[in-house]
Amino acid sequence: MKIYADNAATTRMSKTAVNAMLPYLDEVYGNPSSLHSAGQSAKEALTSARERMAACLGCDAGEITFTSGGSEADNQAICSAARIGEKQGKKHIISTAFEHHAVLHTLNRLKEEGFEITLLDVHENGLVTAEQVREAIRPDTCLVTVMYANNEIGTIQPVDKIGAVCREKGVLFHTDAVQAAGHLHIDVRSQNIDMLSLSAHKFHGPKGIGALYARRGIRLTSLIEGGAQEQGRRAGTENIPAIMGMAAALEEACADIDKNAKAVSALRDRLIKGLGGIPHGVLNGDAVHRLPGNVNFCFEGIEGESLLLILDDKGICASSGSACTSGSLDPSHVLLAIGRPHEIAHGSLRLTISEETTTEEIDYMIQAVREAVEYLRGMSPVWRDLVNGKNKFVIP
Ligand SMILES: *Cc1c(COP(=O)(O)O)cnc(C)c1O
Repeated sequence: MKIYADNAATTRMSKTAVNAMLPYLDEVYGNPSSLHSAGQSAKEALTSARERMAACLGCDAGEITFTSGGSEADNQAICSAARIGEKQGKKHIISTAFEHHAVLHTLNRLKEEGFEITLLDVHENGLVTAEQVREAIRPDTCLVTVMYANNEIGTIQPVDKIGAVCREKGVLFHTDAVQAAGHLHIDVRSQNIDMLSLSAHKFHGPKGIGALYARRGIRLTSLIEGGAQEQGRRAGTENIPAIMGMAAALEEACADIDKNAKAVSALRDRLIKGLGGIPHGVLNGDAVHRLPGNVNFCFEGIEGESLLLILDDKGICASSGSACTSGSLDPSHVLLAIGRPHEIAHGSLRLTISEETTTEEIDYMIQAVREAVEYLRGMSPVWRDLVNGKNKFVIP
């Protein structure tokens, strides 16, 4: 059996998305900035994609800027808010300790430039509250950036409430919605979201393309100097094939959002229940406020990396945290943020499923993880000391 359970890292492109790209890799190859008919055909496609994306998010087409992906959108949103804030003498930004590195590293750079950054503590259940945001807002706060849903533990933040607080206080609110777009309902107007990042390859679209929504009136700073594409917000000839693939993938995902969420959540809960039967293991992140496809556990007495290798041998593509930190030996900053001790954070397993996952695959994964954890514990000196009572279990 070959099972792909790493959909938080990237997804397989849908047939609809692939087919939507093909004409633009072939016949329709004009540059949308060109005035001739070939250019105008490309421009029409671009306009239509922008309108369709906007319809999925509840905004106007003019509020969408195409980027190279989620990372670029995050960078641009935060840098733009910082430039706006700077002009008003506001150099304080609020975020959380468990954001994606595209956000955290951008904030680190701003810190070096003299911005003050408040990272909110994340509760043990993987959530922050709107009250925490309210308490942290100061007269010099120029931005609140809190992710919509976490990429490692899947927890869904109270974005509506945070948006309402920010609007009331007159502070810009950005959300990294890369894990949410195409999986959860988004309506930027009613949710009081000022800026939102998304990435196509997380919802069965192509890689290397994303978008930044910015409410009308928010001046975006271009990260790339060059031509006047994207209303001067992002220079460079537009990647029309990828944009067409993204628009098709988002439309498709949003049309089926309730049906998919229901089916995938049921599979997720079956997997959580099955893995919950493994002793001295614990689910990371709230069980209810959780992405439909996310399962993340810590198992005491094992190394996540070894577990991944065994699962790979059994045909399962899994992850121990985010794709960005795998390869480094540091434990996940997300698991540390929710209070897991280092030795526990090292024994983590993330399985992220999709609409393509079957019940049969779920049951195979439960069995495979059980066996693998048992096998690794059998060889582990750490586990022996726990069982002998020499050391105390952290996970009961
Ligand atoms: C994947 C991801 C990103 C980065 O998106 P890219 O398109 O790969 O640059 C940013 N934030 C979150 C939450 C993600 O999951």
